[in-house]
Amino acid sequence: LLLLAFSCSVSAQQTKSFSQRSYERARQVLDEAVQATGDAKSLEALGDIKLQYVARAFEIGQSANPTAPYYITQAEGTRILDFHGKRSYQELSTHFLGDIPLRLKEVVTENGGFTIETTSNAVYPIAAASVAGSVRAAQSFFPQYLLANALNRAFSLRSLGVENYRGRRQNVIAFSPGDSLLALYFDAKTHLLTRYESLGDSITFGVASFETVFTDYRQVGAIKIPFRLTTRFAGEMNTELSYTSLEFNTHTEDSLFEMPKGAELGPTTGGNLSLTVTRLAPDVYYVNNGLSARGNFCLNNIFFYSQMFVVFKDYVLVIEPPRNDIISQAVIAKIKEMASGKPIKYVALTHYHTDHLGGVRGYIAEGATVVTTPGNKNLIERIASMPLPFNPDTLARRPHPFAIETFTDKRVFNDLEHTVELYNIGGPHADEMVIAYLPKEKIVFASDIAGIFAFVPQGQIAQANPANVDFVQKVDKLGLKVETIASGHGRIEKMDDLRKAVALRSQK
Ligand SMILES: [Zn+2]
Repeated sequence: LLLLAFSCSVSAQQTKSFSQRSYERARQVLDEAVQATGDAKSLEALGDIKLQYVARAFEIGQSANPTAPYYITQAEGTRILDFHGKRSYQELSTHFLGDIPLRLKEVVTENGGFTIETTSNAVYPIAAASVAGSVRAAQSFFPQYLLANALNRAFSLRSLGVENYRGRRQNVIAFSPGDSLLALYFDAKTHLLTRYESLGDSITFGVASFETVFTDYRQVGAIKIPFRLTTRFAGEMNTELSYTSLEFNTHTEDSLFEMPKGAELGPTTGGNLSLTVTRLAPDVYYVNNGLSARGNFCLNNIFFYSQMFVVFKDYVLVIEPPRNDIISQAVIAKIKEMASGKPIKYVALTHYHTDHLGGVRGYIAEGATVVTTPGNKNLIERIASMPLPFNPDTLARRPHPFAIETFTDKRVFNDLEHTVELYNIGGPHADEMVIAYLPKEKIVFASDIAGIFAFVPQGQIAQANPANVDFVQKVDKLGLKVETIASGHGRIEKMDDLRKAVALRSQK
């Protein structure tokens, strides 16, 4: 009888498929990890958590020029997760290249979310679709939620085997949270999650891994929390964050989660792609795509992305291809409709920062010549030929010969009706920074050096930043007669207001 039972179990073992055995191995690793770290329920039993952190972001694709070392932004912040109240609060203070300050607060409750720009005290509602993303972003700092997510998607659990990482043996498993695949590394001795990574494809790096590393685990109540997090993209350091304090069960006052009284309301962030075309002058159009982006440290940014196009007699000139191909395709369709089929002959870049050129491949597929400054030539050539196996864009599906034209100081486009002058003015935000000036219309298109924040309350002038000051000085030195600034960040400003902002700065 004993022999029979044994042979039965052997044959059961033999009938298990490789996938099944792989699942069981992964499940064991995951269960051990939950044991070692504590589960999400034990985390939430803490009532609430208040974290304060210092952080650095290595701005990949946001330096002074494409070959300069990454610009490093320092940041500090506070994060409160109130599990009982089902709400969260964040505060972040940082600077962009060119000494451009950013100070935000973000609140998410069961009724929705909003961001406060603390200088102007303006409130930006967060679109309903994006509120869940904010909740997930807050949870991503805690391994407990990732483990719970893996358990919820148990059907996709597989073992990837054993790998050494930083001199320690790791059990590596994978699961799919949806439209991606995550590999999770667990220390074989402590069973703690040390790292997780996913693969994606980008126009500047091609196929690359995005990884998050957890270190400095400490016991908090019944669970373990990593006090240091680092993220890397394509092997390059992206962000690092360390907690300077952690308290739990603080019973934060309700007022922190309420909208400030009398605050001006800004546009909703985190919404879907929706083009708004503004006619600035005959044949001159400003396109806001309505999409904001989630920035470093997972806060909703409060600025949007825009571009401009000018319809000449025989062709269309596009100034700036922001973000990605999805936006480019929508804008190209709109241009075709509005410019009665005239070809998009040129797309001009303001500067090489990825968020302002991410849509360039769509215009290359359309047959447009890329017009930029010499320092960006190698980068744009690389972007134009990048294979994107995971998310093939229009250019990947419909290759087109690539054409580029560079200029050092000035490039003029004109016909009998219109003139657009591109000037490379440089400055503190990027070594090569181009503005597009329309002398007849007295309009300038500029990105990041004017109008970076999409909203300042009516009648209020925020103090200018050093990049603004440099921009105004350069415009005056060139003798440009600017009245209207169309910014790459969703905002149309009056040059006079920017001058007031600069005056305000020099007074202080
Ligand atoms: Zn920039």
